[in-house]
Amino acid sequence: MVRVTGMCMVVLAAGLIVGCTETEPADEGPEETAAVSEIEGLTVDSNWDTRATGEAVTRYVLKNSSGMTAVLIDHGATLIGLEVPDRDGNSADIVLGFDRVEPYTGASPYMGATVGRYANRIALGKFSLDGEDYTLATNNDPNHLHGGDVGFDKVMWEGEPIEVDDGVGVRFRYVSEDGEEGYPGNLRMTVTYTLGATNELRIEYEAETDAATHVNLTHHSYFNLAGATSGSTILDHVLTIAAASYTPGDETFIPTGEIAPVEGTPLDFRTPYAIGDRIASVEGGYDHNFVLDSQDGTLSLAAKVVHPGTGRVMEILTTEPGLQFYTGNFLDGTLTGKGGTVYERNFGFCLEAQKYPDTPNKPGFPTSVLRPGETYRQTTIHRFSTE
Ligand code: BGC
Repeated sequence: MVRVTGMCMVVLAAGLIVGCTETEPADEGPEETAAVSEIEGLTVDSNWDTRATGEAVTRYVLKNSSGMTAVLIDHGATLIGLEVPDRDGNSADIVLGFDRVEPYTGASPYMGATVGRYANRIALGKFSLDGEDYTLATNNDPNHLHGGDVGFDKVMWEGEPIEVDDGVGVRFRYVSEDGEEGYPGNLRMTVTYTLGATNELRIEYEAETDAATHVNLTHHSYFNLAGATSGSTILDHVLTIAAASYTPGDETFIPTGEIAPVEGTPLDFRTPYAIGDRIASVEGGYDHNFVLDSQDGTLSLAAKVVHPGTGRVMEILTTEPGLQFYTGNFLDGTLTGKGGTVYERNFGFCLEAQKYPDTPNKPGFPTSVLRPGETYRQTTIHRFSTE
């Protein structure tokens, strides 16, 4: 039976729930008892699973009329599924992840999550702002990574189903308190995912603070356009990145501060290359921040990925100045995900729209400071098609 909690009760009171039905076929995941909202194309299951801490996890399933499905949970405002058609119209889930919430609360390397308060690394977990020194967790020894011990990927967001002009969505809210993970300022945030009829997954972020702080939010899906359970690497995917330069880093991935040209390096994706073509000459695999050609905050094409086998194409448009390209180098076969798939090295790639790593300590990089009265805004779109 559905355990009616928090948001589901509100929805019921508003008369929006029209029934409770079994949806998915039995899988290895939690029992599937879903509530169907009266918003067409949107299913809310307020008891998809339970965290070890006891909170019920709500799952939202968004569908459009062009064969796409996006599945989100309130834990970490996480995208746990994304079904996309191939050139023959066959849909497959193209994001790595898990059938239950438990790995997302623990071992998951940020799969599908909303990452913050500062995505990527801050050197030695330290920064100064307006004359004050701040110390953060060094959870990626010796640096701070993706917001610390309990980043935004590990907290419960409050979800609200929404209807937009050409589709449906979920707006997640979270307030990160002053001092949380060592950051200053109460930060009020929304992250809104919408799925449009034209096969675009749109992610919009807004944040406001009551004291100066640093903000850098990103989306951390590991994509495999052959399918998350295909059992194949992403080395045959063909990538283009609209970036003439990147931020070289030291051996702990902290930028030197230099903006270097990609020309003549295996990081030159200004013309399409298979990811595997030159990866052997990149020590450790790709894990680099690209300085996007568009730096003016307008929504611009940042990257395109084509999977020749299925014809699936993903384009990323963003307002952000940077894009982290990471080829799942730390996946090592110790994690078992959806449908029993063992995640080996290079089984997924991430393209994370962001500010540059370690900006709080790099005055020459585009600022990540947010002050009271200002609004942090980011729009990133994942647009799917076939060729
Ligand atoms: C970083 C990697 C890190 C990974 C964690 C990426 O965003 O660039 O260095 O290992 O996240 O999953």
